Amino acid sequence: MHGCSRSWCELKIVYTPKCLRFGRIGHPESPRRVEKAADFLKNKGYEFTDPGKCTEEDLLTVHSRDFIEKVKNNNFHISDCPRYDKIYEYACLSVGGALKAAEINGFSLMRPPGHHATHDSVGGFCYFNNIAVAVERSDKKVLIVDIDRHHGNGTQNIFFGRDDVEYVSLHSVGYPGTGKLSKQNCRNHRFTRTVEDDEYLEVLGSMLNSSGEFDLLAVSAGFDTHKEDPLASQIQLTTESYRRVGKKLSELGLPTFCVLEGGYGADHLGKNIHSFISGLED
Ligand SMILES: [Zn+2]
Repeated sequence: MHGCSRSWCELKIVYTPKCLRFGRIGHPESPRRVEKAADFLKNKGYEFTDPGKCTEEDLLTVHSRDFIEKVKNNNFHISDCPRYDKIYEYACLSVGGALKAAEINGFSLMRPPGHHATHDSVGGFCYFNNIAVAVERSDKKVLIVDIDRHHGNGTQNIFFGRDDVEYVSLHSVGYPGTGKLSKQNCRNHRFTRTVEDDEYLEVLGSMLNSSGEFDLLAVSAGFDTHKEDPLASQIQLTTESYRRVGKKLSELGLPTFCVLEGGYGADHLGKNIHSFISGLED
């Protein structure tokens, strides 16, 4: 964590325990996963800071007014996105985490996640698209790299066809079923069979090498690619591999911020994030 001259070294964690105040027993996206990760990272000596404010104007850069009203009024019906009391406030707080992470080149350790939320729909445990709002508010040319095991259909939906944002995703078959092919500024690699550390790192490297020129790197940091994750898939990564993933991303030499997406093993999430950040700071 020390002796490094780059701007994103000694990276701060953006977090408030307020994000633990909603949840449903048996739902994989539980408060416990983030709470345990926060404890682990605090014990490792990371500095923590509060999320920023998210206004309705911020949300409107990405989502429709009608959709924002629907979330406000709990007027949506998707089984994996429960209609929690005050979910609008918690979803805004999580967007505020992404905005703060973008401002300080930090890591937002907030919930709910965001990459399945489209312009006008919730989905896959996501209500608002946290990283998309932070990217829009940055006013920079941005490379988004999504390392969650699920394709970020929401992020692709929001930025599809844009020439100031490129979206790169590595994911497995399964939910949400999108991201089979690359199209325009959205470059997808879908693993259809078992993949372990070395092959995954090779594919990531080749995807990054063929990216354009950018001012900012935004990482949708999902850790459900871990081989012991409760939602594990054909992507079977070790904790150590996240250090290598972080290092590959740091080699792009761009100011970087990260936003937590998936990662459902409460015993692994903190360790995997620590490994990843260590690689970013290598
Ligand atoms: Zn995921």
